Amino acid sequence: MKETMRGLVKEVPAPSGLVYHNDLPVPQVGDDEVLIKVHCTAICGSDIHMMEWDEWSQKRLNPPVTLGHETAGTVVAVGAKVTDRKVGDRVSVETHIPCGECYFCKNGMGHICNDIKLFGVSENGAFAEYTKVRSDVTFLLDDDLTDEAACMFEPMGAGVHGVESAQVEGKVVLVSGCGPIGLTAISASKTFGAKMVIACDLLEARLEVAKEMGADVVLNSTSCNVAEEVKKLTDGIGADAAIDVTGVEAAINTALKSVRAAGRVVCVGLPTKPVTLHDMTDDLIYREVELTGVSGRKIWDTWDSFAKVLKGPYFKLEKMIGGKFVLEDFEKALEEIKKGTPGKMLLYPNVEDM
Ligand SMILES: [Zn+2]
Ligand SMILES: [Zn+2]
Repeated sequence: MKETMRGLVKEVPAPSGLVYHNDLPVPQVGDDEVLIKVHCTAICGSDIHMMEWDEWSQKRLNPPVTLGHETAGTVVAVGAKVTDRKVGDRVSVETHIPCGECYFCKNGMGHICNDIKLFGVSENGAFAEYTKVRSDVTFLLDDDLTDEAACMFEPMGAGVHGVESAQVEGKVVLVSGCGPIGLTAISASKTFGAKMVIACDLLEARLEVAKEMGADVVLNSTSCNVAEEVKKLTDGIGADAAIDVTGVEAAINTALKSVRAAGRVVCVGLPTKPVTLHDMTDDLIYREVELTGVSGRKIWDTWDSFAKVLKGPYFKLEKMIGGKFVLEDFEKALEEIKKGTPGKMLLYPNVEDM
């Protein structure tokens, strides 16, 4: 076993990016941990925020930390008390490391634990040859799931969680926003039996992909009144549920107007500023519309659901991957992100895995 490894470290509490090292110590596993040989790790928007040292990062990060959390690899060592994983298991990792002790953890809501740790944020992560994590936050991959597909669980799981919350089977569902998470929500809605999926976005190119991933109807919000079109498609009743992936005030209000009375609006996208409900009386209260949110992924319900989506006919992995880079070339991957190249950028510690 090697003693040192390559990895990308957020070194100091400043907007200083990441530093590449080739002499980091290979992590030593604790009793309840596994050591994972990383196959690939996707770059997340939050990784960029941590490099830029925004307010969110300042509250959660204590540098130096090895970043990277959307990952998959193979278990190469297990701690003395680990019984649920063995050497050779292929795994992905849940970013939210619940405490296991609080009210939420004890009531099946570990994903909104009061005292959560974050893999690749508060703990060292997977932009490295090896990473370690508590074995109970690893998700076992079967042979039908590639490592690349497994890197999608974490970033796009919120879209699947939104679909679970919307209870889509047999229903008409509006998905607002057709970026990677919205596309995942569309394909998940179809996988889980939605009667009709209506997708809306501002960009025609994204709507084209939405159709390929299962949307039955696409609406360009720049050229039509989405709520009116949804009514026309549903005999004047409205959609049973809406999933908002945009976090944008106008889209959230449109979603409220597009659902039927006693319909449900699930917010997945994070607003970057305060949101006003334009007509709470008529859109929500008098019509008994439910408005709720989802946080990350339910452990492990969302993962099990997402595995079905990944293996199903609607999800198109190739539409989700923007580029593959060897770890050392992370700056090139970051440039693609800055240019706005669509899809996730994957980093590989070992060139032969690409
Ligand atoms: Zn992420
Ligand atoms: Zn807890």
